[in-house]
Amino acid sequence: MEEAHPFEVLPPIGGWAPAFVCARVVNDEPYRLCGKPAVWHVMWTANGENGLVCGEHQHEARRRWAFYAIHPYEVTCSVPGAIYYKGANVCRVHDTDWP
Ligand SMILES: [Zn+2]
Ligand SMILES: [Zn+2]
Repeated sequence: MEEAHPFEVLPPIGGWAPAFVCARVVNDEPYRLCGKPAVWHVMWTANGENGLVCGEHQHEARRRWAFYAIHPYEVTCSVPGAIYYKGANVCRVHDTDWP
């Protein structure tokens, strides 16, 4: 693992990530994700890059990287077609699904 670059603004993103669990890469060889239960849903960028983090890696995310938004993870976040609504800071499958 390489150290964070001082000008790094985003963690490595992209590739396949499972639902429900933290997708922080904790090992490169062999490639391994954190895998703890996801607690937070991080929107890394305004154009939809996003990822799940556990309670512990939420702290790392807040400390090391600039992100667009963060909200408590719920199963809805992982439903295909779910959309992030910035105003309410939640993910919803469609707009009749409001609490
Ligand atoms: Zn984690
Ligand atoms: Zn979400």
